[in-house]
Amino acid sequence: MRKINKILVANRGEISLRVMRTAREMGIKTVAVYSEADRNALHVRYADEAVCLGPAPSAQSYLLGDKIIEVCKELNVDAIHPGYGFLSENAQFAKKVTDAGLIFIGPSPEAIEVMGSKLAAKQAVSKYDIPMVPGTEEAIDDIPEAKKTAAEIGYPILIKASAGGGGKGMRVVENEEEFEEQMQRAISEAVSAFGDGAVFIEKFITSPRHIEIQVLGDQLGNVVHLFERECSVQRRHQKVIEEAPSAVITEEKRQAMGEAAIGVAKACNYYGAGTVEFIVDENLNFYFLEMNTRLQVEHPVTELITGIDLVKEQIHIAEGQPISFQQDELKINGHSVEVRVYAEDPKNNFLPDIGKLITYKRPQGPGIRVDDGFEQGMDIPIYYDPMIAKLVTHGETREKAIERMVRAIDEYQITGIETTLPFCKFVLQHQAFTSGDFDTKFVEKHFSPEILDEEFTSEEQKILAAAGVFLLEQQKPKHQIAESGTGSVTSNWKNRLKHG
Ligand code: ADP
Repeated sequence: MRKINKILVANRGEISLRVMRTAREMGIKTVAVYSEADRNALHVRYADEAVCLGPAPSAQSYLLGDKIIEVCKELNVDAIHPGYGFLSENAQFAKKVTDAGLIFIGPSPEAIEVMGSKLAAKQAVSKYDIPMVPGTEEAIDDIPEAKKTAAEIGYPILIKASAGGGGKGMRVVENEEEFEEQMQRAISEAVSAFGDGAVFIEKFITSPRHIEIQVLGDQLGNVVHLFERECSVQRRHQKVIEEAPSAVITEEKRQAMGEAAIGVAKACNYYGAGTVEFIVDENLNFYFLEMNTRLQVEHPVTELITGIDLVKEQIHIAEGQPISFQQDELKINGHSVEVRVYAEDPKNNFLPDIGKLITYKRPQGPGIRVDDGFEQGMDIPIYYDPMIAKLVTHGETREKAIERMVRAIDEYQITGIETTLPFCKFVLQHQAFTSGDFDTKFVEKHFSPEILDEEFTSEEQKILAAAGVFLLEQQKPKHQIAESGTGSVTSNWKNRLKHG
């Protein structure tokens, strides 16, 4: 047992604030780190102390592990919370942190390492009775041999990078003729994104749902699960709407998936908060995909249905304390939905739409939680993930949580950039979503950009848009007006006006 009195959050934006809020409630002092682009960021203002790491690019700031450890020593920090992304799943960093006598708020470096490689994870888990997608358990090196395996599994298959993440390094192969070309593409993508070209084969599940289980383990060997999160609404293999519980998972299935997730965690002596991801087919057969060894972006939906503060549990576990509850004490209370508000243009292939938040007003009222890191007038930096906020609702039933979300989206006022909000409103009101009959192909099957032109731009947004064009032209720095010309920002406004 080692009490934590001061935490450095090696991250930025909403997750940095999220962690610091719990720390503050626990009477723990907080240290923020930041890059030059984030000088005025909310996480910097919120922390008890803040240290600039360097210039904007992550490699010169948020990824400087050694420098972060130095800061901890100088400021008498006890523990580092890595958030998600950046250094959160870097086993070497976790090891350096512990070697420096600091506490890493997360699992052991060994667990991070095993689960960081999809192949190593499969191998670790294969000793246990956990369902896995049919495929190879070794990296492919012999193409004729691999083609034989693919034929046995049956096309379509997926070629996946072992080091993959964020949907990168993944290629669908429809038939044998395409095999080599797609494999080379997967390899080169994997090499450029992760510096590791190891790829393997997996059966491509044609109408899959992505359902994951939140787990918590402590250093005394206890592991519990906190039910599932449904994350099937995705674009570019990346999640955009999540909910808990899933609309289709029965109590029996939930228990089976929960037990499998606990098995995966035990296979790598896991402690801390983690997520075991499963892919689920049309008949609700589930298969282990991978384990994420960190707090997930979508963790709030689990917090809202269980009443558990996952960050508080993480901190207690890191101190060596047991999990604060037993499995059978946990119950699902109501339903929760999260939409990710990205600075992206859903009408333009979800491309990032970076700029200034000219208007920014959060929705309020019962059952609404907004985790964000911005205020009106702030710029969304181009250097990092373009997520502005996570909008989360809770209701007694799925229907109520969805209705509440639609209301919240209508109240959310964001101008100056395009966001995923109108797209999310479209999804939430779509029959496929409300009925629960959807999979990861939702966007391909049901969405086209024209749909958003009229109906899903909220009334508030339309009025603001009409008033905002003038303001926008006034407030935009000269070079940006010149750059955009008739391009993105201005024309999007005109687009809205046309239909507003
Ligand atoms: P990453 O680490 O890049 O996020 P995952 O293995 O978690 O990769 O997969 C991301 C997404 O890709 C899943 O949520 C799912 O939509 C799709 N996917 C992954 N594996 C399969 C598969 N075997 N069949 C069909 N879709 C898959």
